[in-house]
Amino acid sequence: MALSTKGEYRLPLELDPSLERLPLEELVRLGQRKLFESQVLQRASRSTLYARRWREAGLHLERQTSTAAWASIPYTDGHDWLTAQANGPFTRFFVGQPRLWVSNHSRGRARKWAPYGDQDIILLMSLALRLARVVGLQPDDRILTVVEPSPRVGNPLPYLWAEADGLAGGLRLEFIPGSLAMLAHNNWPSFAWRRNPTVLFSRLDEALTLQQALSQAGPTPCASVAEAFPSFRVGLFFGEPLDPKREEIRRSFGLEAFSVYLLAEFPALAVECPAHNGLHLWLDTCFPEIIAAGLPAWKGKGSAPQPAALPLASAPDNLEGELVLTTFGQALPLVRYRTGDRIRLVSKAPCLCGRTHPRIQILGKLNEQELATTR
Ligand SMILES: [Zn+2]
Repeated sequence: MALSTKGEYRLPLELDPSLERLPLEELVRLGQRKLFESQVLQRASRSTLYARRWREAGLHLERQTSTAAWASIPYTDGHDWLTAQANGPFTRFFVGQPRLWVSNHSRGRARKWAPYGDQDIILLMSLALRLARVVGLQPDDRILTVVEPSPRVGNPLPYLWAEADGLAGGLRLEFIPGSLAMLAHNNWPSFAWRRNPTVLFSRLDEALTLQQALSQAGPTPCASVAEAFPSFRVGLFFGEPLDPKREEIRRSFGLEAFSVYLLAEFPALAVECPAHNGLHLWLDTCFPEIIAAGLPAWKGKGSAPQPAALPLASAPDNLEGELVLTTFGQALPLVRYRTGDRIRLVSKAPCLCGRTHPRIQILGKLNEQELATTR
């Protein structure tokens, strides 16, 4: 992994599979090293997302050369994101050349727009290859992706994934893109039926509508998707927690269902493995922390108290709380970003699949009251 003169990692397209099985302590050290070497704090301090609040907290992270004062760095959340996005100068919102903009999925609220640089896109492509490996995709699998239209982050994923597999994955994966928004305008379900896909990638909250569309896709309407699409073997579902709908999905679609966590603000792609006991959160791509109820508030000199967070790698198993992410991103690194997603740390112990990255369960979004009381 090389470092450019601007302190950004030059990622190879295919991350080394042995990274998935490094001992936890080594992964923690690797994350710390990447945080430091990719100059996340120095680069982020140029962004309007962080600059003012960090200055007000008396922090001069542009000069920071260690992560010693980590707990004093204020959290950033979706509200801060929207504020920085709406108020200029917009060219100082991002800190690396944007190559692609995507927007998040949030009902009834303003949308967050996230810049992905070249390296961020390569990371997303690499994580798609990793996902294929983790869930056991096979050569010549045909993947029906039912994702949201642009500008949502799911939209470019099949295209980037196809290219990644062609360049470095080697599984000869084939993608059939569809979207519920195009149901009334395009015959993609009946085309997909003719192509007999083996894998389904879709939002979970669209599964019910999808069920109707797919079971009617062939020349003769079927009672279930499983009957209409007999080759479906693997289902990858994102957007909301798979449990408690897992069994129902398995039966109606006739596939092994895996939960996927997809975040728009940064190319994070956590995925469940065949052990089905939590999603592996990749410590070589981010530094995750958890804000749990009951942790004492942290109060620095002259700053307002803020809830304390524990690094996920040292939190006790089964701890529940909000996921906080710091990333090593190019166009806009996240620094202590409160995702608003409630998680449970399932386990830090090596998984039955042999992977060592901590496993989390996504429990859903924090509700408005929880958001208000913890901020
Ligand atoms: Zn596993």
